[in-house]
Formats: sequence, structure tokens, C-alpha cells
Amino acid sequence: MSNVLEIKNLKSGYGSVLIINDVSLLVGVNEVVGIIGPNGAGKTTLLKTILGYLKPWSGDVIYLGKRINGLSTEKIVQLGIGYVPERGGVLKTLTVRENIELVAGIFKEASERLRDLRRLFPLIDERASQIAGTLSGGEQKILSVVLGLLTAKKLLVMDEPSAGLAPVARKKLSSMLKNITNNLGLSLLIAEQDPSLVTVLSDVVYVMERGSFVRSGRPDEIVKTEILREHYLGL
Ligand code: ATP
Repeated sequence: MSNVLEIKNLKSGYGSVLIINDVSLLVGVNEVVGIIGPNGAGKTTLLKTILGYLKPWSGDVIYLGKRINGLSTEKIVQLGIGYVPERGGVLKTLTVRENIELVAGIFKEASERLRDLRRLFPLIDERASQIAGTLSGGEQKILSVVLGLLTAKKLLVMDEPSAGLAPVARKKLSSMLKNITNNLGLSLLIAEQDPSLVTVLSDVVYVMERGSFVRSGRPDEIVKTEILREHYLGL
């Protein structure tokens, strides 16, 4: 199987308002795919449609060769797509351990994954008894990534993982994510408004504007085009 995720001519939105308009995308095995685009472009809406929070109006979402459109979010997560939302990924009033136990209790394969995650993220044990809401923003983000990884068998979908992080924390996150793909054999789909993290990590970058992809390609090519458009053409 060469693709972990295949999106074909997808349309979705809220109520009767179309947001995602005819989007197609491929995520290969062990590939990191980035989606960049301005505020309101539709990145979150696309990710929510993949995860089943929104039902596709038309088109297909295919995971490991199976159509998953129409399935509930719970089913989709059980099939092995991990999700790190932009906000609200951790339960702030619970400890780090309780957050992990909660997710690990729902998904039976999670305990096996937890062994690998302990090695990759010392925070899990070092801060086990700390209330999650008292972790720094960067640490909460790491916990949120850990929770996504507990259920990600083949694919982790992340919405703006670097949002609100200081440059040092961003660098840490970036090397951590590199480590993840190498160590756990996962593919990543990452949406970001700020292209810096995505362009460092991704094999392929898609540019979203007004609910559609307007360009895609290798990160270096995409960055050059974006800088040119922004600075010289004022677009
Ligand atoms: P950002 O980078 O700011 O998070 P985004 O690219 O993720 O932006 P979306 O959050 O997907 O963009 O928003 C796309 C469009 O959908 C926007 O016009 C937004 O106002 C609209 N939208 C988002 N959520 C809802 C909702 N629950 N109901 C109605 N419209 C919504």
C-alpha cells in the first residue's frame, strides 16, 4: 500500500455554507505532508472532516485503502488516526498520568504504544503527578501530541501544533516530530498558518486558500513561490 490517506474531490462545510471545495490530497507511508494557508482558509475544517467531526458533502476520505467518510469520529480514531486539535487537546484539571490513562483506557493498543512514548517523551514520567493545566504552553502541547500518538497507528493529524509556542519550544517540537516519524513509522498530516515548522518537516506542502488547494509541491519550491508572491507581488 503506497498511501496511508487519500482524499478525493472532497466538499464539506457548516450548515449550508460550503467551506472545503473539491480538495484532493495524498499522504504516503512514513510521509510528512503539510498544509499551509491564511486564517480562515479552511485547514481546520478539512481536518475535522477527515476525523468525522463533519460529514463530507461529497468526495472520499480513504484510509489504508478503506473509505471512512460517514464513520463516527470514535470509529475513525479506533481505526488508527490520531488527532491533535489546535486547542483543548488535554484535560487541564487532570494530572498528566490521568490524561494518559483516560486515553489508554479507551484504546487497547495504546498501552503498547505508551512504552515507546515513555522513551521518546520523558515528560510523561517526570511530570506524571502534575495537573495538566499547570504545565507550560509548550509542555501542554507535548502532552497533547502524546495523547494523539497513543491512538495513531499509521497516521497522526495535527492542527497548528506550533501555534502560541515560543521559538525555542517550536524548535523542540520540530525535532520531536522528526523523531516520531523515524521511530514510530507514522505518517503525519500537519496544518499550520505559520509555514516555518511545516516547511522544515514536510516532504510535500499544499497551500490552501478559500477552501481549495491552489499549489502543492516540495517545501523549498513552495516557500520560494510564497515569498515571491507575498513580498514582490503583494498577494
Ligand atoms: P485558522 O488558521 O485561523 O485556524 P483555518 O484555515 O483553520 O483558519 P477554518 O477554521 O477551517 O480555517 O475556517 C474556515 C471557514 O469556516 C472560516 O470562514 C470560518 O469562519 C468558518 N467556520 C469555522 N468553524 C465554523 C462553524 N463552526 N460554523 C460556521 N462556520 C465556521
